[in-house]
Amino acid sequence: MSGIRKMFDAAPSDVVNLGLGEPDFDPPDSIKEALLAAVRNGYNKYGPSAGIIPLRDAIAQRYEQYSDDTLRDNVLVTIGGSEALMVTALSIYNPGDEVLVPNPGFVLYAPHARLAGAKPVFYSLREERDFLPNLTELESLVTARTKAIVVNSPNNPTGAIFSARLVDQICDFANDHDLTIVSDEVYDEIIYTDEPYSSFWGKRENVVVVNSFSKVFAMTGWRLGYLLGPRNFVVEANKIHYYMVACPSTPAQVAALRGFQSAAPHTKAMVQEFQKRRDYLIKALRTVPGMTCVMPKGAFYAFPAFSWDLSDVEAAQELLKRGLLCTPGSSFGTLGQRHLRLSYAASRKNLEKAVAILKAFGEEQR
Ligand code: PLP
Repeated sequence: MSGIRKMFDAAPSDVVNLGLGEPDFDPPDSIKEALLAAVRNGYNKYGPSAGIIPLRDAIAQRYEQYSDDTLRDNVLVTIGGSEALMVTALSIYNPGDEVLVPNPGFVLYAPHARLAGAKPVFYSLREERDFLPNLTELESLVTARTKAIVVNSPNNPTGAIFSARLVDQICDFANDHDLTIVSDEVYDEIIYTDEPYSSFWGKRENVVVVNSFSKVFAMTGWRLGYLLGPRNFVVEANKIHYYMVACPSTPAQVAALRGFQSAAPHTKAMVQEFQKRRDYLIKALRTVPGMTCVMPKGAFYAFPAFSWDLSDVEAAQELLKRGLLCTPGSSFGTLGQRHLRLSYAASRKNLEKAVAILKAFGEEQR
């Protein structure tokens, strides 16, 4: 099990939980009402394997801003971004292939590569380079077996965001080596910069974009996400998806469709609130003895480094004993060692409690 799940499963329920990556908000009322109405109105049966047509159309329409010939045939609706990532791995990676994955990076990428028989090859996201990939290093990691590169912007756990220029550079790199780009964009609306989001969609033919309704509509437990890819890829991915899950939840899809029409103000307000919490938390973490923290630009995680004389797993365990649940940085890869991941998708009161626990702990470590 991932470090995130191990900590979550071990934690008593009365701790301050900054461990899991989910908004503390409820889904918008319009989406909740749409779910209830869908259930009452008989949307309780299996649906099409690739997702209901109006939802696939709405997703395609959303991506027309990046590529105006995006069609429903480019879209597969999945059980969260998690299934979209797994289906992508099983569709693309073959035994013996190598897949470039970020370190630190989200906990699914490397295990998914292994489950598909491929080998994850880690590229580094170093703090001194703003947690962004280095093209020279990427070049040095490519072999004849490299099949794909997984990218994630905004990044979990670091909050780093790719510039438009970096997106173009990674596309050039992938073109030079004939790689598929698997771009996990589940935090694309949770950004705190003025620049518009730079998606990989429409940048080249050989791209799979993964996205999710979990974070943006605060419906993590409803399990709904999607992927976009070239039409022939979606045909193949749909077969694997069908054999794993038959189809996504019908009422949840009806509700998500309503979200496209109604949830933008809710999402905007949620992101504004996350930004305030981020500003509070990062400033406070910088006052914890022995701790430093880069300002994240997106998602809802702080990824502070510490200089205390213990490992990140030990630190997380000690903090749990004192009432704070957070995730050891090494859960995200070796370069996450001596970091903690704290989710600030939590109430201000809980963030204040967390800071008090961290400060007291930092004092003890002096
Ligand atoms: N990708 C990233 C970067 C995530 O942080 C998460 C969840 O935390 C997911 C994908 C998967 O989310 P879900 O399966 O709920 O859509």
